[in-house]
Amino acid sequence: MQATTHPAPHVEQILANLPRINGVIPMYVDGEWRLAAEGGTRELFNPASGEPIAVVAEGSVEDARRAIAAARNAFDQGTWSSLAAAERAALLFRLADEIEAHREELMRIDTLNNGKPLRETEYDVVDAANCFRYYAGLATKPHGQTFDVPAPSQTFTVREPIGVCGQIIPWNYPLLMAAWKLAPALAAGNACILKPSELTPLSAIRLAGFFDELKFPPGVVNIVLGAGATVGHALAESPLVDKIAFTGGTKTGRSIMQAATSNLKKISLELGGKSPNIVFGDADFETAVDYALFGIYANAGQVCSAGSRLLVQRSLHDRFVDRLVERAQKIRVGDGFDPQTEMGPIISPVHRERVEGYIAAGHAEGARMLCGGNRLGGALANGNFIAPTIFDETSPGMRIVQEEIFGPVLVVQTFEDEASAIGLANDTIYGLAGAVFTQDIAKAHRVIRKLRAGITWINTYHPTYNEAPWGGYKQSGIGRELGTYGYDAYTEVKQINVNLDVQPSGWFSD
Ligand code: NDP
Repeated sequence: MQATTHPAPHVEQILANLPRINGVIPMYVDGEWRLAAEGGTRELFNPASGEPIAVVAEGSVEDARRAIAAARNAFDQGTWSSLAAAERAALLFRLADEIEAHREELMRIDTLNNGKPLRETEYDVVDAANCFRYYAGLATKPHGQTFDVPAPSQTFTVREPIGVCGQIIPWNYPLLMAAWKLAPALAAGNACILKPSELTPLSAIRLAGFFDELKFPPGVVNIVLGAGATVGHALAESPLVDKIAFTGGTKTGRSIMQAATSNLKKISLELGGKSPNIVFGDADFETAVDYALFGIYANAGQVCSAGSRLLVQRSLHDRFVDRLVERAQKIRVGDGFDPQTEMGPIISPVHRERVEGYIAAGHAEGARMLCGGNRLGGALANGNFIAPTIFDETSPGMRIVQEEIFGPVLVVQTFEDEASAIGLANDTIYGLAGAVFTQDIAKAHRVIRKLRAGITWINTYHPTYNEAPWGGYKQSGIGRELGTYGYDAYTEVKQINVNLDVQPSGWFSD
């Protein structure tokens, strides 16, 4: 592992376009910039240096209520939902153009606030713009169906917006997750209340600036800031919210699902994973090594679909693991603003401790650590860095094999044959993603079809497309985002029956 460093970023310059009231970055509610109702504030820190970067409004339940009232009013007035789909689409296309025009600025905001390298935030910004474009296009496409029912009826369906949508997103892809939530919901005509992670709200607030400049109707997009346990919970339990969409940890997902029972709101959950990356003895060796690294160390392993379990066939194990360790030790870890940096920090000191707790558990359970496991010192000592870590000689019951670590920690499991690979792969509570590396295409398909997972790859890892559905089996979630599935998840289906022979039915005698 090599450490990279960088002079302190020009924070003031990077955040120059964010709104401020009395020096505090406000939230965006009902088309206005607002400080927290109870005056709360929160300080944000650069995960790469530990230095403070901004003070943002820290909302409370009262702020959530105000945002819900604004969204409710906007939806009930029909200021957005009753616009022609083409008009909604036109505004969303312009929003995508704004994102693209501010690509550099948005990249730098997310690198400053989240720590991930610029080359990763560049992908995020481009994907976010494309996500708004995809759903702007979809808004105007046909959505209903017609049905051949017995005469004299004609039956068809239309899709209508669900109403007020609460959207809670995590810190690992701050801008991109905002796009995944807002784009389909707005395209379909809903009113939204987005709650970013309290750790990474800056790019969502910058995005709110674009909504404001483009004059989206007030109340249609609200960005409310504050802690998940208060503001997020208030969205999940409010009877005035019709749908809750959440991306984050499985434990939080469970509590959101419980809160959502208040009015049986519609629910979409995109939760954690412990995804298997299966490498057979006949795989293209360097390609499989390369993607094994990318699968776990992209975004420092803080990815729901990370290939956090490497399942390698025994015949290949020693050679593969040796090469993997050699490559992992060469990864350049450091400040995301350094163009040389390949892996950034962990999001927060609290999360770093959580990851370190798993590293300690791996040792305690008897797994063998092959590399990493340590914090980075020297110029990086004040950041939340952990070196790329690999554990071998694991057994299926270990916590490091079963639980989502959400950090740069790979666990290796060894298998004998196809059947045992599938058995190990499916042996967790999760079912988000998985991959197979082999040059035997029939075997690849056989194994993929046996994986209990929603997103799978053959001879690659991680590519994600706005066009294709994203979501998990088992405890990795409920529903799908992206693609047409993601749009449908923000609509209700209305059945319309038309009587083509208008006369009394004669059911009751006159
Ligand atoms: P959480 O799941 O707690 O946070 C994700 C979002 O949910 C944040 O906006 C958070 O707000 C909000 N939230 C937290 N508690 C509640 C609640 N009771 N009601 C409503 N919203 C809530 O993730 P953590 O940051 O605590 O990370 C914990 C673990 O979750 C990680 O170790 C990882 O395993 C997993 N995780 C998975 C992600 C994924 O993409 N699947 C993303 C992030 C984490 P706030 O930040 O303000 O607390």
